[in-house]
Amino acid sequence: MRWQRVIGQEHAKEILISAIRRDRIAHAYCLWGPEGVGKDALAIEFARVLNCSEPIVSTERIEACGRCKDCLQMSNLQHPNVRLVFSLPAAGKGSDDDSPLVRLSDDHIALIQEQLALKAHDPYHDISIPNATQIRIASIRDVRRTLQLSAPLAHGWRVVIISEADAMTIEAANAFLKTLEEPHARTTLILTTSRRDQLPPTILSRCQQIHCGALSDDDIAAALVERENVSPDRARVIAALAQGSFRRAVELVRSSQDDDSSELALTFLRTALKPSRYQNELHGLIERRIATLDRQQIAVVLRLLLIWLNDAYRLRTLSDASRYLAFREGDAATALRRFIERYTRARLDDAIEAVERAIAALESNAQVPLALVALAVRLRRTIGQTTSSQ
Ligand SMILES: [Zn+2]
Repeated sequence: MRWQRVIGQEHAKEILISAIRRDRIAHAYCLWGPEGVGKDALAIEFARVLNCSEPIVSTERIEACGRCKDCLQMSNLQHPNVRLVFSLPAAGKGSDDDSPLVRLSDDHIALIQEQLALKAHDPYHDISIPNATQIRIASIRDVRRTLQLSAPLAHGWRVVIISEADAMTIEAANAFLKTLEEPHARTTLILTTSRRDQLPPTILSRCQQIHCGALSDDDIAAALVERENVSPDRARVIAALAQGSFRRAVELVRSSQDDDSSELALTFLRTALKPSRYQNELHGLIERRIATLDRQQIAVVLRLLLIWLNDAYRLRTLSDASRYLAFREGDAATALRRFIERYTRARLDDAIEAVERAIAALESNAQVPLALVALAVRLRRTIGQTTSSQ
């Protein structure tokens, strides 16, 4: 794999690698796409390769060596050619011409350094600093001053990465536009954003736009096994839950929510399908266990149910289903096979749609117990009774 630190994103890698190889690096790029798919990771890797003093070049490839002084500086995000700009907390009163860090408290500075170190260690890390929701004009003026007053080091390129650029205030965006219009030798400005529509068209039209799409489940699962020491079985289920976002996948791994939630999803289904007197038990389950979770955790439970039902659907319709299943081992996998044997008349596509609707209802703030009871009723209707009634 090329640029191993970056998961997937072959299309975007191809564009950037080919730009380096043809020595046709754009003045500005906008890497856009969903959250957590590796836009910053890609920008950082691009900066690393551009500044490596002994890059490894072969047909179709160019890789950073990982050993030279530049690569070592990049590994701490401390390379003099490379600047990462992100949202900072509002500072006390002062001039917009001050450096953006001048007016921040020592605690804030320490926190920012800590976040930068985490980002250097893991480019998928989401920099999060309390009360930092905007990229202010002071940050952009600071970049502009640096670009005007100094030249990039002898070899390599100056790379300014504006992470989540849509957080720029209007003033900051205007100042950035001026920067974009000025010529700078061997300099490339990279915006990353998951809300491209929030960026002014005047800025976008001056950037080469590169789409970074959702990651495949296989790419996420492989990366979880390699980077987070997750077992392949668990990695597959989490990848299916993460909806193309590696960051989301890592959050799920760290919260260890998936295990309990799988069990809860199946308990919910079993309760909903009880031949008789299911209502009391269902209400008890909702009150005692599900209602104690927050909305996002409940959505995880329902998504697991969705993945499980999708597995059931594959198992029933595909002859070589097993290699497409998320649940291949453990209790959930055993339950899957038993379910297929028992509910031969289940309308699984309708059941899947019912769960999708419940998730949508939950996301649009529907009342949790009501949405769950409605889902249980639909599951009873679509999956129905066992064929071998007992
Ligand atoms: Zn190097």
